[in-house]
Amino acid sequence: MSNDKQFVTEITPQGEDFSRWYIDVIKKADLMDYSPVRGCIVFRPDGYEIWEHIQQEMDRRFKETGHRNAYFPLFIPESFFQKEKEHVEGFNPELPWVTEAGGDKLEERLAIRPTSETMFGHMYSKWIQSYRDLPVLINQWANVVRWEKRTLPFLRTSEFLWQEGHTAHETEEEAREETMKMLEVYRSFVEEYLAIPVITGQKTPSEKFAGAVDTFSIEAMMKDGRAVQAGTSHYLGTNFAVAFDIQYLSRENKQEYVHTTSWGTSTRLIGSMIMVHGDDRGLALPPKVAPTQVIMIPIGPPKTWDAVVGRTDELFAELKKAGIRVRVDDRNDLRPGWKFNEYEMRGVPVRLEIGPRDMENGVCVLVSRISGEKKVVQQANLVEEVQAMLDQVQREMFDRAKQFMNDHFYSVDTLEEMKASMEEKRGFTLAGWCGSEACESKVKEETGATSRNIPFNPAEKKHTCLVCGQPAKHTVVFARAY
Ligand code: AMP
Repeated sequence: MSNDKQFVTEITPQGEDFSRWYIDVIKKADLMDYSPVRGCIVFRPDGYEIWEHIQQEMDRRFKETGHRNAYFPLFIPESFFQKEKEHVEGFNPELPWVTEAGGDKLEERLAIRPTSETMFGHMYSKWIQSYRDLPVLINQWANVVRWEKRTLPFLRTSEFLWQEGHTAHETEEEAREETMKMLEVYRSFVEEYLAIPVITGQKTPSEKFAGAVDTFSIEAMMKDGRAVQAGTSHYLGTNFAVAFDIQYLSRENKQEYVHTTSWGTSTRLIGSMIMVHGDDRGLALPPKVAPTQVIMIPIGPPKTWDAVVGRTDELFAELKKAGIRVRVDDRNDLRPGWKFNEYEMRGVPVRLEIGPRDMENGVCVLVSRISGEKKVVQQANLVEEVQAMLDQVQREMFDRAKQFMNDHFYSVDTLEEMKASMEEKRGFTLAGWCGSEACESKVKEETGATSRNIPFNPAEKKHTCLVCGQPAKHTVVFARAY
């Protein structure tokens, strides 16, 4: 068996077992490894670098919208969690506790943060005195811990990396505006950078964040048709302000509670991106976040090898200078075909091949990971040509994912139809909902699908509830979810 064949058979085909495919790919591409502690993972350099590119661009967008970064402590006193009833009920089952330190039992148990509304609330009550102190717009990049029962690398881990924004405002209107603004920052980032199309909308009350008045989300469709909640933005009303006594002297000289928001995205984005774009050959990474955007592979017999490698190195320097993340694989003990497969598996968006004849003709060949398209380009215009192909790959990845989502978007009127839809097809299903929790949980029991969100722009408006047939209050997207 050739090397190429051996290599391909190591990845389970998506159609055979999608979950197996996912684990095969992330392990084989060296993105992560398991840790000795259940549900926790190690981010290997290629996995971590994807996160760094995500962070850099998101951070830029947060700052552009007026936010600043700060860092709050990992440990949260138990008493903080008792202050907001829904919050404690929601998070208590997932909290790990520190009960002992330095050889002594602690007087008060400390939770390892699952999210930091309580800690921000405590500090904001000290920092905010008057309307002049508002708004407060802070983000933090941190790790958090939620002791999840079901885990899956990147998508749902016990410890994960994320950003959490926490803002405080004078009025409900302003806080709601912030909530929607950050949802839009998430939507545009995820679509433009990760090439993942999303459905924006509001969570139903049973799916909202513990302690929030309203939760909004972006929902993405994986290649097996299941949904991932890729980011959330919460309007918290005055719930945390009342719990932590965050009051300010208003313009009318009255003591008022602030209105707060919080919003978060995590390393789950990495898993979503892999499940949206990958194929049976392995990863496919959008150029904007790929650790290596271009892999250069010199080709040819021993007698011209040094000359070809020499020219490759010159072109490498040009691309690198232009800010392109480029690498050369000039190992001469491996066949080009093996290398092609290897970097396709690793999801490198563009491959550059150069052989002795190309060198003489002043050209080289660019190959797109996503479409397989080959283009002979002039070395003289290499930077522009590579940039153009990277842009094209980025666009094509989004267009393909969007097409996939459109092709797997269904609409039903009854629970029976929903059952059939969930059994026979994979994807998102639009249905009417009366607003009762009983009908919503009936859908889950009978079909395994949960309400993802109430989309802002549904393709169609539904008029009756799929379960009880009463007039529909909302048109909801349902799907089986990770
Ligand atoms: P939340 O604070 O619950 O709204 O979470 C904010 C975001 O973090 C969610 O929208 C998810 O994208 C992500 N997230 C939540 N739980 C996990 C987890 N266990 N592992 C990875 N990401 C998570």
